[in-house]
Amino acid sequence: MANERTLSIIKPDAVKNHHIGAIIGRFEKEGLHIAGLRKCQLSRAEAEGFYAEHSARGFFGELVDFMTSGPVVVMVLEGDDAIARNRAIMGATNPANAAEGTLRKLYAASVGENAVHGSDSPTSAAREVGYFFRAIELS
Ligand code: ATP
Ligand code: MG
Repeated sequence: MANERTLSIIKPDAVKNHHIGAIIGRFEKEGLHIAGLRKCQLSRAEAEGFYAEHSARGFFGELVDFMTSGPVVVMVLEGDDAIARNRAIMGATNPANAAEGTLRKLYAASVGENAVHGSDSPTSAAREVGYFFRAIELS
């Protein structure tokens, strides 16, 4: 299995509900290394750029409203098969469909406010890690 880096975001709902520690602890417990980490407040332009692939979708405005509604924690997770493993730990996009024990089952309230983001492919991981971090900030 390849060593990979992937971008994770703890979204505003999970930050507001004080789940930062539990979520980071879960990643570490699952053997994912935290290669980079920052807490920040996204501007509308930053959120729109990050989710540009969804700009034509009906929920785009709502998604940008939500992602700018409060601070987020952006992280780079590193490890064997990190992209798929992070997605498995997160669970389905809609928490109603998320498996027991996944972060979205535990911490998300709805498809719109779903606690965490994770890159979905090596191509998006490379773009998303570079969107938030410089190489010198990762170790
Ligand atoms: P993310 O990219 O945030 O990790 P995902 O890859 O599971 O989530 P995407 O299809 O990329 O899901 O959708 C991006 C985000 O847009 C979702 O996490 C969710 O917050 C929001 N979203 C997706 N579908 C809907 C919907 N039908 N209604 C409202 N919001 C939605
Ligand atoms: Mg996605």
